[in-house]
Amino acid sequence: MTVTETTIRNILTRTSGFLRTVASHSLQPYRGCSFGNALCGVGCYVQHNQHLLTGRRWGSFLEVRTNAAESYRENYRRERDWARRHDPQVGFTIFLSSATEPFLPQESTYGVTRSVLEAILDQPPDRLILQTHSHRVADHVELVHELATRCELRVHVSIETDRERIGDLPPHATAIEWRFEACAVLRQAGIRTVVTVSPLLPIADPESFFRRIADVADAVVIDHFIRGDGSALGQRTLRTDLPAAMAAVDPRSVDLTYRDAMADVASRFLPGRVGINIDGFAGRFQ
Ligand code: SF4
Repeated sequence: MTVTETTIRNILTRTSGFLRTVASHSLQPYRGCSFGNALCGVGCYVQHNQHLLTGRRWGSFLEVRTNAAESYRENYRRERDWARRHDPQVGFTIFLSSATEPFLPQESTYGVTRSVLEAILDQPPDRLILQTHSHRVADHVELVHELATRCELRVHVSIETDRERIGDLPPHATAIEWRFEACAVLRQAGIRTVVTVSPLLPIADPESFFRRIADVADAVVIDHFIRGDGSALGQRTLRTDLPAAMAAVDPRSVDLTYRDAMADVASRFLPGRVGINIDGFAGRFQ
């Protein structure tokens, strides 16, 4: 794992492709991801971005964008005005993050995400979506709570399954239990909290899993790699080790009907608060 420090001209990236109806901008405090060697890294959609990888293996590098907060301040006004003109419905919405993890272990050394959140507090967008795979988001609960007073905010915490292991694949980057606890902390603080079951992995006990999510979250997103990974039929993910490992645990889980079956269970515990694939990430629930 190579960690380097770098700077960036504009930390606010205008979205394209599947994120366009979700947010006007994405914001990556880091380039690369040190969770790339964990379970979520096996099927991680970002690993297919050759431009970002530049020949490197996903999970082998992390670039720390040390001037991220400064860049946010410099570009805020221009990007905000562009976003509001470009799509008034989406407005100036920031998705933090879509191509890295904001609360990596390295964050405790570099504090880049924290500094960006402080800059956002001074100059808020219309809407902020914090997307994380880590329980460490709860370490920032006071700051996140304050941010929620400045803009529409929701925190998305990925919990893809109730199983600690999927066959021989690497373990989760952070324990499922810790992520549930983090959701509880956030929600108790009055922060809108959404569990993203993304990508959906085989679930051992769907009833208990979604009941538990309903206890700690305002809504749930269920995102299958088919229709979810940016290719029509999940071809990108089919090139990885994830589908075979999923099928070995539960053959039904590699079919889109599994997503719909899980959504039916989820709807019993979170009626009107289940989002499917990109609709869910955009806050469109049914
Ligand atoms: S935390 Fe997110 S960006 Fe990082 S490897 Fe996992 S899925 Fe990919």
